[in-house]
Amino acid sequence: MSVAVDGGEQRELAIGGRSLGYRLYRSGRRTLEIAVLSGGAVEVRAPKEVSIAKIEARISARAGWLYRKMEDRLPRFMEEGPRCWQSGECVRYLGRQYRLQVKAGAEPSVRAVAGRLCVVVAKPRDKAMVEQSVSRWFRERAQRVIPERVARMLELPAAKGLVPSAVSVRSMKNRWGSCSAAGRLLFHAGVVALPTSLVDYVIAHELCHLRERRHDARFERLLARLMPDWRERHRRLAGW
Ligand SMILES: [Zn+2]
Repeated sequence: MSVAVDGGEQRELAIGGRSLGYRLYRSGRRTLEIAVLSGGAVEVRAPKEVSIAKIEARISARAGWLYRKMEDRLPRFMEEGPRCWQSGECVRYLGRQYRLQVKAGAEPSVRAVAGRLCVVVAKPRDKAMVEQSVSRWFRERAQRVIPERVARMLELPAAKGLVPSAVSVRSMKNRWGSCSAAGRLLFHAGVVALPTSLVDYVIAHELCHLRERRHDARFERLLARLMPDWRERHRRLAGW
């Protein structure tokens, strides 16, 4: 249940009832290295001659640390979002930076205009109030943008037969998206912080899970039909 591909081999390992996906890179190096990228992807770099059994024993031994680290790696929108919720701080939306501009007003609103995210609230110094308004705005944007992008992708010939039972947006701890056994796709509201090309990659990945549950060769073939340059986008998302 693994596939050799350029740029590593995607594998899966069951640890304590959970399935841990990781990408394995072989090289002439001497030591084994396990890393968690932002976004939660796990990368393992190992010497050529070390057996899979040994590699997986090492990963299992560090499972507690790995899972903790994966939970820590929230999408950057959450990770580096403004902490003070004051004018001047930056927020990303569809890959672009917007500067927060917080003003007092009786009619609360949030609008993105010319590189600024204008937030009107009753109490501009109330961080929680500003944070809540911006979060709500992100959720609303995600609820509009994500189903639109899903619908667009479903028009592709390669998407034939991939029909989600529902598409929804909610807060998730450490992942961009998920696909339930009943075919329900869930996306993190913070997905809309990403550039559109990566929003589409997250969507394509979850759509492929409608047919292929695991990250195996069949999954990758389906994904490549839907999005031939998925691997490049995967790398960009991992570094995001
Ligand atoms: Zn997946």
